Amino acid sequence: MELTIGWLYPKLMSTYGDRGNVICIQRRCQWRDIPVKILPLEQTSDAELFLQADVIVGGGAQDRQQEIVMRDLQGAKAEALKNQLDNGIPGVFTCGSPQLLGHYYEPALGQRIQGLGLLDMVSKHPGPEAKRCIGNVVFEITAEPLRQELQAMTGEIPIVIGFENHGGRTYLQTVSPLGKVKTGYGNNGEDGFEGAFHQKAIATYSHGPLLPKNPFLADWLICTALEKKYQDSVQLTPLDDRLAQQARAAMLKRLD
Ligand code: GLN
Repeated sequence: MELTIGWLYPKLMSTYGDRGNVICIQRRCQWRDIPVKILPLEQTSDAELFLQADVIVGGGAQDRQQEIVMRDLQGAKAEALKNQLDNGIPGVFTCGSPQLLGHYYEPALGQRIQGLGLLDMVSKHPGPEAKRCIGNVVFEITAEPLRQELQAMTGEIPIVIGFENHGGRTYLQTVSPLGKVKTGYGNNGEDGFEGAFHQKAIATYSHGPLLPKNPFLADWLICTALEKKYQDSVQLTPLDDRLAQQARAAMLKRLD
């Protein structure tokens, strides 16, 4: 078995440290002797490359870079990404990435950025004077079947710990929320929702990076990707996550 990680626009969408999600998946495969390849999906990449990814990671970006990305993510590339995610390729998309998977993102300044329309949601920045949503975030995953699959994997209710830093506010239409906020703003600081979930794609405002802080999510992505690729059940060798567990316990205590 081997895994290819498709990394969306790493040069443009790595402002908030989400490369840590790519590194986390890579290391958790290597620690299990699963060969892993990182495939940058850039402006110079053609659509075919998007189809080679077994799991796709998209990070956060500033408004200006999001506009540049969407000028490129059009036509065959946009269709390839949408088909991958609609067909159940797993992915984790943080902040600026999921804003572009929705119908549109209205930045603080400038024109509306049309999104892929894959997630039935919209995002709007209330303007350059508006308070940014910045701080630690804790939420409980409610999206099914993800919640059940995570509970079966860990034996616990899936609680995610992270850090958010966004000006845009996201409003879900028919797409499922990823979870319900316990601490922090979440999608918009109003409706108590955090993120979105579609097929096997996780959309969240949680940086951190997300996966090192919540290793069970990394393992879910790896397992889901390998099971889809090889059409067989996959049992991952357990790893020693005591350090991550201690860090989580400390944060949950601090934020409680
Ligand atoms: N530029 C977008 C916003 O401010 C996304 C920010 C991010 O990716 N952290 O909402």
